[in-house]
Amino acid sequence: MKLFYWLGIVLLVIASIAIYLFVPRQGNFEEETEAYEQEVDTLVVIPEPTFLHGIPIDSMQVVHSTINANQYLSDILASHNVSKETIHDLSTRAKGVFDLRKMGVHKPYDIVCYTDSLMTAKAMVYYPNDVDYVIFHLEDSAYVEAGSKQISIEERTASGLIQSSLAVTIEEMGLSPVLTNDLADVFAWQIDFFRLYPGDRFKVIYDEELVEGKQIGIKKIKAAVFEHNGFEYYAYYYDQGTGIDYFDEEGKSLRKAFLKYPVKFSRISSRYSGNRYHPVQKRYKAHKGTDFAAPKGTPIRTVGDGVVVEAQYSKYNGNYVKIKHNSMYSTQYLHMSKIASGMRPGAHVKQGQTIGFVGSTGLANGNHVCYRFWKGGYQVDALKVQIPASEPIKEEAMDDFQLAVAALKIQLNTIPYPSQTQPASFGGK
Ligand SMILES: [Zn+2]
Repeated sequence: MKLFYWLGIVLLVIASIAIYLFVPRQGNFEEETEAYEQEVDTLVVIPEPTFLHGIPIDSMQVVHSTINANQYLSDILASHNVSKETIHDLSTRAKGVFDLRKMGVHKPYDIVCYTDSLMTAKAMVYYPNDVDYVIFHLEDSAYVEAGSKQISIEERTASGLIQSSLAVTIEEMGLSPVLTNDLADVFAWQIDFFRLYPGDRFKVIYDEELVEGKQIGIKKIKAAVFEHNGFEYYAYYYDQGTGIDYFDEEGKSLRKAFLKYPVKFSRISSRYSGNRYHPVQKRYKAHKGTDFAAPKGTPIRTVGDGVVVEAQYSKYNGNYVKIKHNSMYSTQYLHMSKIASGMRPGAHVKQGQTIGFVGSTGLANGNHVCYRFWKGGYQVDALKVQIPASEPIKEEAMDDFQLAVAALKIQLNTIPYPSQTQPASFGGK
């Protein structure tokens, strides 16, 4: 009997489960529909609030405009019913956050205002550039807040064919001129960008910076190949903890270091300066060089490889030599007692090679070499100019570097070169 009792219970349980699973449940279904409708109602009733840089703007009006010439912040705010007291408070509270005098003509701004007839302003957002914004909160106790929009990074690829210059090709592609400068900088030691050949071509992978979908700049070139005069030059970005640098496939830096000084065993007798008392001319003037005092006849050496562009005598410089190292850097050495033999325009020189001898020819007071340095066409202080390190990839970073290079090289190879008739192609990823 006991067995039948348990069997009965088990059958009952199975039957209940079967009914629960397979018999349609009208009542339950209705309940679910109701619950679903309620959920939809909830979504309709409370929409997502809209913000402009943190300011709620639902049921507000946003007036977008730009600053006119001779228009002051106080004019703009006064026209939106902001009291003199609030404007005054604002100028006090802006201190340390934003310099109100730096609001520029034609710069955009938004006024968040009420929909009343006076369009009373609740806040003003000023945009000094594509990235930053300054909020003037105008209600209660007015205050000023500075912030930045989110910058997103997108990888791009491009390839181009040179017909006249890199700048022209990049411009025709509709790309940023910053890319021209960056490419010229990456390959500064390999390629003279003033002497490209028609038919030279390149491919580049780079990261672009975007704000609200708008391109605002180039973050960095990640890899590039430049085919110049039949030779392929590869460049790979890698940071081994010493800052941005570009390397070839073997991990050698594309940049070559300069020697720090143009003479051995000397002392600096006069530094680069915007204004110094000239010992010979007896007046204040800029000294755009560094003077190294040394005995007459001390060899002067070129600080880097390059090509002689000038080797001659002039009234002020005396005997001097000017060397172009690449499209970015040039150096000049003045007051030589004698220019070394073989120094003539077009002659190639190797780093450390003697190019002349210390003297005091031209406008000089005592034996010294005046060493001058140009970067990108401008004279700069040779002792202060920032030239990236040129160390090769360290042994401990080599495996990681090789992995990065392998991936970038595959990616470079998949970018097609433009055809001869269509000089440019580019795309995103
Ligand atoms: Zn000097």
